Amino acid sequence: MKKIKKFTLKLIKEKNLQFSESFSNSFSTMEVTVVLLKPSAVQRGILGEVITRFEKKGIQIVGMKMLCLTDEMVSEHYAHLAHKPFFGRIKASMQASPVVAMALKGVDVINVVRQLAGVTNGREAAPGTIRGDYSMSVQENIVHASDSPETAARELARFFSESEIFTYPHFLHPCTYANDEL
Ligand code: UDP
Ligand code: MG
Repeated sequence: MKKIKKFTLKLIKEKNLQFSESFSNSFSTMEVTVVLLKPSAVQRGILGEVITRFEKKGIQIVGMKMLCLTDEMVSEHYAHLAHKPFFGRIKASMQASPVVAMALKGVDVINVVRQLAGVTNGREAAPGTIRGDYSMSVQENIVHASDSPETAARELARFFSESEIFTYPHFLHPCTYANDEL
């Protein structure tokens, strides 16, 4: 826990990954969130299409890699489901192939990406969302997305080392945000 806090604070400070500023009556936050493109996305050959959705939205990719999730990673990541009878099949599903982990940066991006992903059950997710367009399942639902700033910080430390997170100018910023939104 201490290690995660130190890691996150360092990223916030040195790489400007998360900051808050107030503008008149509005409040906007530059954040980083974690997305996992699950084995269901890898196996179905839709990685490119899903990644394109984030890019077209105007979200900056600041980290991306393929990896096989270890037992420890899955148990930590889905600790809130560990007591469920179906935990074993979720774990097997997450380890069925490598996943692609992404770190995505933008204003309020944690909430934005959850909205883009859609609700957990692909059959209930709204058309236009990733799960709504690509999934017919609760389990095989294509993407994971961090659900809060605390979770995002933990997940960033779980899946990425410091050197795997990049800071670089996003030349589309002037077309993506108004000055006072950044
Ligand atoms: N999951 C499942 N059955 C359930 C609930 C969850 O297979 O009844 C899987 C599903 O893949 C989901 C993941 O476990 O994406 C994590 O569940 P959570 O409730 O955190 O949903 P999410 O945040 O991914 O929408
Ligand atoms: Mg969740």
